[in-house]
Amino acid sequence: MKLSAAPLEGSSSFDAATLANPATAALRAYDPGHDLPALRKRYGSEIAELGSNENPLGPSPLAIEAMRGALAETFRYPDPRGALLKAALARHLGVEAERLALGNGSHELLILIAQCFADPSHSIAYSQFGFAVFPIATAVVGAKAIRVPALPRDHASAPFGHDLDAIASAVREDTRIVYLANPNNPTGTWFDDAALDRFVARVPRDVLIVVDEAYCEYVDAAGLTTALRLAAKHPNVIVTRTFSKAYALAGLRVGYLIAHPSVVAVIERLRESFNVNNIALAAAEAALDDARHLDRARAFNRAEREWLSGELKSRGYRVLPSQTNFVLVDLGRDAAPLERHLFERGVIVRPMGGYGLAETLRISIGSRAENQRLLDALP
Ligand SMILES: *Cc1c(COP(=O)(O)O)cnc(C)c1O
Repeated sequence: MKLSAAPLEGSSSFDAATLANPATAALRAYDPGHDLPALRKRYGSEIAELGSNENPLGPSPLAIEAMRGALAETFRYPDPRGALLKAALARHLGVEAERLALGNGSHELLILIAQCFADPSHSIAYSQFGFAVFPIATAVVGAKAIRVPALPRDHASAPFGHDLDAIASAVREDTRIVYLANPNNPTGTWFDDAALDRFVARVPRDVLIVVDEAYCEYVDAAGLTTALRLAAKHPNVIVTRTFSKAYALAGLRVGYLIAHPSVVAVIERLRESFNVNNIALAAAEAALDDARHLDRARAFNRAEREWLSGELKSRGYRVLPSQTNFVLVDLGRDAAPLERHLFERGVIVRPMGGYGLAETLRISIGSRAENQRLLDALP
């Protein structure tokens, strides 16, 4: 039976958007920026992909070997409990495996937390320029969004960053979740351990505090370690992490969270049973074992970010402080013309209009060749 050949009957009067539930109706589909597969075809290796905060060093050779080894097993379903990866993570982090949940990227986990714990009677708080998934998770469950104004553009240490005092003050009776990203994407900014301690002390225990640490492996700022140290004492603190950034496994989609065992148990009720595939499980486990590769990625990123920031500053650009593998450049004027100029020269950076930061561009730290191509392409 051929369904596609005949014109869809009545299709002109049918618009599923009118049938979408209110939460979905308020959303827009993910905007990938540019059609990267088409661009790769057009530019080949001449393209500088600095738009998605990927690690230009690529995954650990041990992870690649583990992926090869897992290929023949793909006719089987993956381990629904991800027991081997959880055991490796538990050893690596020094936490009990019952405190861990695995996700198809940490994106999935950020959404699952909202789905498991919030509904339209609740509010969810996050910073104005917090990670893009926070408002989506809020909308998915029809919760009320509390978008807390960010720190000012001229703030000394964290321009456009999270204002933790303001977020704590914005928490209401009906607030069920607070999403924080530390360091944050797209700003690159961070807050230190002392600031988070004060925040956690101020927020009631029935408010889940989600600390998204997607970039934690890159961090070396004084006074900043990880929210993990709080998770043992404060059962309402949830830490999310990912293998997409420093571990360079973005294409596999593996993330994890560390939380109180009862939080994990609730999430396990809704989690898709086979959400992390067996190639991803094997690769992530092997990647954890390659401390040297991670160290290389860290050292490369730190040196290259410093170099690129310096080069940009010497050309008159305002580069915001960053503890991540990208920098936010504040042009002080509409950034769209520069983004287009770079794009036409095969240099892909991320415009931030969707975040309400239309005067900024987010530039990932690429290989030296890519970063040089960016500099050469500047007007
Ligand atoms: C990249 C990123 C994520 C992780 O995404 P994955 O779904 O794990 O690939 C989470 N939070 C922030 C702030 C990010 O930038």
